[in-house]
Amino acid sequence: MELPFAESYKIKMVETIRRSTRTEREEWIKTAKYNLFNLKSDQVFIDLLTDSGTGAMSDKQWGAMMVGDESYAGASSYYNLKNAIKNILGFDYFMPTHQGRAAENVLFSALVKEGDCIPGNSHFDTTKGHIEFRKAHAVDLTIDIASDTEAYHPFKGNVDIDKLEKYMAENAAKVPFIIVTVTNNTAGGQPVSMECLREVRRVADKHNKPVLFDSARFAENAYFIKIREKGYENKTVKEIVKEMFSYADFMTMSSKKDAIVNIGGFIAMKSQEVWRQCSTYNIMFEGFVTYGGMAGRDMNALSVGLDEGTEFEYLETRIKQVEYLGNRLKEFGIPFQSPAGGHAIFVDANKILPNVPKEQFRAQTLAVELYLEAGIRGVEIGALLADRDPETRENRFPKLELLRLAIPRRTYTNNHMDVIAVALKNVFDRRDSIKSGLKIMWEAPIMRHFTVELDKA
Ligand SMILES: *Cc1c(COP(=O)(O)O)cnc(C)c1O
Repeated sequence: MELPFAESYKIKMVETIRRSTRTEREEWIKTAKYNLFNLKSDQVFIDLLTDSGTGAMSDKQWGAMMVGDESYAGASSYYNLKNAIKNILGFDYFMPTHQGRAAENVLFSALVKEGDCIPGNSHFDTTKGHIEFRKAHAVDLTIDIASDTEAYHPFKGNVDIDKLEKYMAENAAKVPFIIVTVTNNTAGGQPVSMECLREVRRVADKHNKPVLFDSARFAENAYFIKIREKGYENKTVKEIVKEMFSYADFMTMSSKKDAIVNIGGFIAMKSQEVWRQCSTYNIMFEGFVTYGGMAGRDMNALSVGLDEGTEFEYLETRIKQVEYLGNRLKEFGIPFQSPAGGHAIFVDANKILPNVPKEQFRAQTLAVELYLEAGIRGVEIGALLADRDPETRENRFPKLELLRLAIPRRTYTNNHMDVIAVALKNVFDRRDSIKSGLKIMWEAPIMRHFTVELDKA
């Protein structure tokens, strides 16, 4: 008999989590203004708000933290990280930042100006925020099939190369760089193929433009290339990662994702000139160029995390867990963005709650229902996140209303996945009785979803 699959690690330290009653949760979510970001963590049983900074570090990472060098300038921890970035990702220059959006802030301060247009696949919310804050435009040229949650495509995160060619032919003068987000978070944690990365490079070269990879989940992307793209089955994840970044001029990184640390980020680049342009902004916003808002011990943990995060056995364990949850939902007939993405399951709220008017935020309504059902915290990827149009101030209603269930790395077991699946099934079974959603009582002018206050519509 073939042996079943099992995790490539064992557990050395645990943290207690607590179930609650439905009555308690009803009170808590009301106090939280129906915004799951406002809940206290001990009001949550299984926390799928994000996979960002919520993973479990390894014994080797904790060990590395103990020998962190906290020198202001030139710390050995900085050089450990510099070596890891050079060896694993292939970039000669880098600077640490406190997290991914800080990397965007520094790089975009140097490269983006008013009126610029930045085409690519789907921009992550902070990326778009940093672009629109500078009165520039984020142009989403993801392949159309990405918005059909039931259609299969092995690389649903791809940039549509025909659209990109056409866009560049007409608008190249306004484009400071092309951006590719790997994996495509907004489209459901969907990977981008190596072929697509190569084609983006070709189009960029034609117009003499640089390419930025927003790289939060680059290792999960590399795993999918190995599993799904012809010609890569016998390459190691590390070899694939090297080839991926050979097509980029610079990368921004949220280390809280695939580098398995709780905080941190960086920008890496091939050009010393770009490094110089960024250094002033880094010193102004983040910290000196050899620590950029990170403690030495955190840079050490990050160097080890980059190595562990690009190991096949780790990635297989992780992505198979996400797939396991997807398969349980499929058994129950619950619609989600398929195939399952790298870091999360994106449940299709338009299909589950068509009776709730879209103006009443279907995905947020579903998120609140799942919390009430079992204390599980997901996050809305829908109209709240899409914000208002910066010019007309009208609500933007994206094609997809998704409830994202992000799985923290090395944190929960498949028993937890079973609880999530059954809780969602219970909500799914009573979907026809859910006829109204939520209304906004207060919102911030930009990136409103983090702090929005809602009430029952
Ligand atoms: C998380 C993320 C960011 C922002 O990183 P933070 O560390 O949260 O600031 C940028 N892009 C993508 C694709 C992300 O997933």
